[in-house]
Amino acid sequence: MSEAHRAAGSVTILTVSIQFQIEARSGRTRTGRLLTPHGEVETPVFMPVGTLASVKGVPQDILEELGVQILLGNTYHLYLRPGVEQVRKLGGLHRFMAWPRAILTDSGGFQVFSLNDLRRVTEEGVTFRSHLDGSSHFFSPESAMEAQIGLGADIIMAFDECTEYPADRERVRASMELTLRWAERSKKYFEEHKHEVPWNRGHVGTVALGCPRERSSSAGDHEVSARQEPAELCSAGQPRAAVSTCSESTQALFGIVQGGMDHQLRRESAERTIEIGFPGYAIGGLSVGEPRALTREIVESTLEHLPAEQPRYLMGVGTPEEIVEYANLGIDMMDCVLPTRAARHGLLFTSEGKISIKQARYAGDAAPLDPNCGCRVCQRYSRAYLRHLYASNEVLAQVLNTIHNLSFYLDTMQAVRHSVLLGKETGSSCVRSRPKP
Ligand SMILES: [Zn+2]
Repeated sequence: MSEAHRAAGSVTILTVSIQFQIEARSGRTRTGRLLTPHGEVETPVFMPVGTLASVKGVPQDILEELGVQILLGNTYHLYLRPGVEQVRKLGGLHRFMAWPRAILTDSGGFQVFSLNDLRRVTEEGVTFRSHLDGSSHFFSPESAMEAQIGLGADIIMAFDECTEYPADRERVRASMELTLRWAERSKKYFEEHKHEVPWNRGHVGTVALGCPRERSSSAGDHEVSARQEPAELCSAGQPRAAVSTCSESTQALFGIVQGGMDHQLRRESAERTIEIGFPGYAIGGLSVGEPRALTREIVESTLEHLPAEQPRYLMGVGTPEEIVEYANLGIDMMDCVLPTRAARHGLLFTSEGKISIKQARYAGDAAPLDPNCGCRVCQRYSRAYLRHLYASNEVLAQVLNTIHNLSFYLDTMQAVRHSVLLGKETGSSCVRSRPKP
């Protein structure tokens, strides 16, 4: 037994994964705070996608400056490259990518299904080929949990089957049932192994919520010693509004509701996933090619069956208009590659609509990209310059475009949070402005 274990024996350990507090409601929209072991996340939140431990083109310090409080990492990609064991040995994803704030990883299921034509699904799991070198791999609920525990995100996802669209009812039911059995196996493995999270080695399966510095100094047998813990990571990692106590914490596993485009099956999936019991619930299997009106309908009907007091995560959406729409339905968390991927293709979201910066009409345009945006790009550069960078295939084009698009998405969510708070307390001083560079 480690020293840390003995030391921990002298105090009462309250093991919590995340805490979610709803602060205000306006209609179905709610705003709240999600407290994670790596800081606070204001909701509703848009989570930028950092597929390979990187939001393509944007350094971590700029993400912090933009106000990103939680990032998404893709288990499938990180499992293939650089490999879970490599990340685990380096202290987990937070330390590996020098990101002190919260991280969520997906289970790998979605990528296995979307990137692999040669996959084979059995009760046990999915056999698939790497899109990098064609090598054969196997994901099961257990191995997906093992991978996500090794990566060490604050929030991890149950292994599910993303049902294809369109699919007949029989197929959707069979897929939903498989996801439910996999959810039980995911939870069982997680409960038995969650103490193995890399931020936490030798510390009784728990870490101090919001207290990474204390944690590292008390973890006597920690593979990455306190000496190596970057101090700036600790200080930057402190939540902006202090987490109330240093209660002990670990990862949180969210369940995923499937059920295709069938209202009844969605309801059944929700109820039976809730029976298994998770601290948060995701709505999966949407944005898979169905019409947008149908996505909204399914989100709306599924939300009716999810616990009101727990976080609700809609996976893989959407445009700026859509994320507002879903937040207004009562969604707390969303992620999408759209703002970052579109930026790399010169498609920019602005308060005046979409702009394709590659167009020749911007070649002599001295105006900022978005006159209503306070981001560092709009404050400094002209459309003409951004158009030139893009047309010349300069790397800086991708960097600046991505920074603006992310800023626009984050501002959009902040506006939703403000309007909910204003609905409750008009003119309240608790409505904060995001600092502009
Ligand atoms: Zn901007």
